[in-house]
Amino acid sequence: MIQKVLIANRGEIALRIHRACKEMGIATVAVHSEADRDAMAVRLADESVCIGPASASKSYLSIPAIVAACEITGADAVHPGYGFLSENAKFVDILDEHNIGFIGPTADHIRIMGDKIAAKAKAIELGIPVVPGSDGEVKTVEDALILGRTMGFPVLVKAASGGGGRGMKIATSEDDLAEAFTTARTEAKAAFGDDAVYIEKYLKKPRHIEIQVACDTHGNAVHLGERDCSLQRRHQKVLEEAPSTVLDEKARAAIGKICTDAMKGLGYRGVGTVEFLYENGEFYFIEMNTRLQVEHPVTEAITGIDLVREQIRVAQGEKLSFTQDDVTLSGHAIECRINAENAETFTPSPGTIQTYHAPGGLGVRMDSAVYSGYTIPPHYDSLIGKLIIHADDREACLMRLHRALGEFAIDGVETTIPLFEKLLPNEDFRAADYDIHWLEKFLGMK
Ligand code: ADP
Repeated sequence: MIQKVLIANRGEIALRIHRACKEMGIATVAVHSEADRDAMAVRLADESVCIGPASASKSYLSIPAIVAACEITGADAVHPGYGFLSENAKFVDILDEHNIGFIGPTADHIRIMGDKIAAKAKAIELGIPVVPGSDGEVKTVEDALILGRTMGFPVLVKAASGGGGRGMKIATSEDDLAEAFTTARTEAKAAFGDDAVYIEKYLKKPRHIEIQVACDTHGNAVHLGERDCSLQRRHQKVLEEAPSTVLDEKARAAIGKICTDAMKGLGYRGVGTVEFLYENGEFYFIEMNTRLQVEHPVTEAITGIDLVREQIRVAQGEKLSFTQDDVTLSGHAIECRINAENAETFTPSPGTIQTYHAPGGLGVRMDSAVYSGYTIPPHYDSLIGKLIIHADDREACLMRLHRALGEFAIDGVETTIPLFEKLLPNEDFRAADYDIHWLEKFLGMK
């Protein structure tokens, strides 16, 4: 059994993992950069180790530093959170070599899903519906043109190693395909050191719907319904909700079964998310994330299941604590990502939070690691917290969200709270009548 977990992350997710460990009687080690000495997880963890300077490449992404921290503290497993090393197969291989557990899937599964071309091929093999597109990598502009003509425009050029919406270019017609192809390749090479790209049909008005799965090493694979993450800005999620208003029980069970059958076929271990675009009643696989996701709390809210706890159970060889029949979805949940950014320009606003008061009360969960007097370092992403609202139905959830947003008191830095206040009264949003492009139109970006 795992006695001590090293949390290889920072911010709200480090605290989230610490909380689950404590509730299971497991000791925690927080690792931190020099810029994160005053982090909440560092204060609360049983032990902490400084693993390097502020720059993430020299601290949170440094495999030697993290392995050394495990050896020094005697941690027997690492929880990677999301981002940083969470989807790094080499990291998992090295932990294996050192006999340190990884709270997540096997290196092989991370490797397959981390390469979008391989992931798509695997998805097809496992019976998951995918977006129509090229059969693997597209190597030349000429090949891209032939494909574009057969599939019809618009098409999307995507980087095999892409992530965070980078390395993705739309070509609306033959005339801009050459440029989209070259730019996507150059961007991909610069950002990921890999210029392999592939082509997909560009879906015009899809929703982003993803299925949460959880699997143990005893052959059980369960799905926990979906999250609708269509509200995005620059391909980044801004607000997520569960369940999606466009799926009924039958559609949910059908796609859920496709995903759990696929996970059984793969022999997957741990939690994961199968991401789809959804248009005209059809699902199209785009990628699988082999880790805990930022928006996991909306699923926790409607299922009552602690996903981090399940991850730890699975990592220590136990069965999932529930079966598919035990999963019932109750009510509606919405998560707002609160960033330290100007709500109109989205320019980061690092600095010291003078006053901090978070909303509370029934159905209100605030996952954050900031406090009054905390200085947000400029070196990392600007997420400072997630407000997760749960209520009996969507209407009540929106009322509660409105009430909760009004309770925030954050002085000293700008936040994206005003964006959610502006969004709430909007008729389309209230009716959940949106697709992945809706938010950018609402923000005047399109
Ligand atoms: P990343 O790993 O960079 O986040 P994804 O493949 O998950 O890339 O896609 C991110 C977002 O880009 C999706 O949520 C969607 O908004 C948009 N997108 C991706 N593929 C397509 C497509 N074929 N058609 C239209 N939009 C797409």
